[in-house]
Amino acid sequence: MVLIAAATASPAQAPGGGTLLTAPGARSLPTLGDNSDLSPAAERRIGDRIAASIYRDPDLVEDPVLAGYLQGIWQPLMAAARARGELSAELDERFAWELFMFRDRSINAFALPGGYFGVHLGLISSVSNADELAAVLAHEMSHVTQRHISRLMTQQSRQAPWMIAAMVLGALAASRHPDAGTAAMVGGQAILAQGQLNFSRDMEREADRVGFGVMEDAGYASRGISGMFEKLQQANRLNDNGSFPYLRSHPLTTERIAEAQARVQLAAAVASPAGQQAAAERTQRLHAMMAVRARILAVPGVDVLRTLVAEAQRRAAALPAPLAVSAASATSSRDAGTLYGGAFAAAQLRDFAAARSLLERLAGVVGGQDAAGKAVQLLAVEVDLLEGKVPAAAATADLGKAGSRAELLLMSKALMAAQRAPDVSQALQTWVAVHPRDAMAWQLLAVAYGQQNQPVRAIRADAESRAAQLDYGAALDRFKAAQGLMRSQPGRADYVEASIIDTRTRQTESILKEQALQEKIDR
Ligand SMILES: [Zn+2]
Repeated sequence: MVLIAAATASPAQAPGGGTLLTAPGARSLPTLGDNSDLSPAAERRIGDRIAASIYRDPDLVEDPVLAGYLQGIWQPLMAAARARGELSAELDERFAWELFMFRDRSINAFALPGGYFGVHLGLISSVSNADELAAVLAHEMSHVTQRHISRLMTQQSRQAPWMIAAMVLGALAASRHPDAGTAAMVGGQAILAQGQLNFSRDMEREADRVGFGVMEDAGYASRGISGMFEKLQQANRLNDNGSFPYLRSHPLTTERIAEAQARVQLAAAVASPAGQQAAAERTQRLHAMMAVRARILAVPGVDVLRTLVAEAQRRAAALPAPLAVSAASATSSRDAGTLYGGAFAAAQLRDFAAARSLLERLAGVVGGQDAAGKAVQLLAVEVDLLEGKVPAAAATADLGKAGSRAELLLMSKALMAAQRAPDVSQALQTWVAVHPRDAMAWQLLAVAYGQQNQPVRAIRADAESRAAQLDYGAALDRFKAAQGLMRSQPGRADYVEASIIDTRTRQTESILKEQALQEKIDR
């Protein structure tokens, strides 16, 4: 789905209750000189404006564990889209390709301009496996690689880009908070009153087709598509639009269902079920744990948390002794999810004894060094941190050997609790050199420098975290504060640090100037 109101096309009521662009409207695109599509650079600018506002959204979820799980599905899809030629080198380079998670229990995912995407926690917690998540993500990715968004925005070309960005943000707010959203809208009410407009039916079918190829090449099972369509059909029958906004923007048409079924049958005829099953079993335990994590991060309320703990305790009591549990047994993925959910929920309720006892049973079911085993180890670290204890794992931790971003960030917190800030700043400096847009890593680095009484470096890291979230005004304030501190206390920072700060101050100033200039052109 996309949250863009098209003023120029005539809307038609879709069977799912949402509003769709009619196919004729989509075909008769206005021409703008030689190139009727919005350029990737212009689309990215609109996307950045939207993203800058999303970074300040209190419902944005910045959980490295769940983000890492999503990336584990997303990156193979990106690689497959590149290899298939669906993702051009230009778009690959120019667009952000960034996923935002929202603390929202409804089932939804959407593409935004410039290669930004939104995923509701409700989607992650309600899909049955990674394949279903891959199916949705590949579909949304294909809307962007096929330039559907740029075509829709070209239809908006009479609107200034800042206006388009404001409308997308307004529609985003309206879709997530149906009652408050329309009141919060600043402009374009008349357009939005018609409802959020979406891709044309042809675009939807193209995203289905391209997305299917991408997810298959990335190694995901076609059951992801059939599973997702079953969920959509079920929600359609129940007329469950409220918890299923994805259905409003992706109405089920008979063509979509028939085409998807034909593709899945064809794929099933050529696939080797044995190999797929083994791989599916391995990923299923991790999925079960991440799904319940998403449910808990969506803040379901104390009653739900208590129920999750009670369920896990019942299951733990019924499980055979740890030694008798086979890691690959048929029930292990469900047990893994139940025990993980119980332990994490207990920690949220600050019942740390219960959390630890469930964690112990969980480690008996999910051991080893694979992704699922790592997730269990990281949960143990989190439980200790939530209680305010120095995690046991800090004693032997080596940040240089962290196998994932989630491990690096969580173990950094563990080491700071263990008063080992110098190790943390060294590891995070190396990380941000390669990943300069990782705002959370910069934020932790700021804390680590603060602990070592290095205020200039701490302020600079804080400035970089603001810049990573596209808040250049706040970044400039902090770069200047760092300069002020260096001037008032000479000797506070070395020459190299001082010249980095001067350079970054100038760069940030010129970005702000450029933005101001662009805004004038846009208006
Ligand atoms: Zn779509």
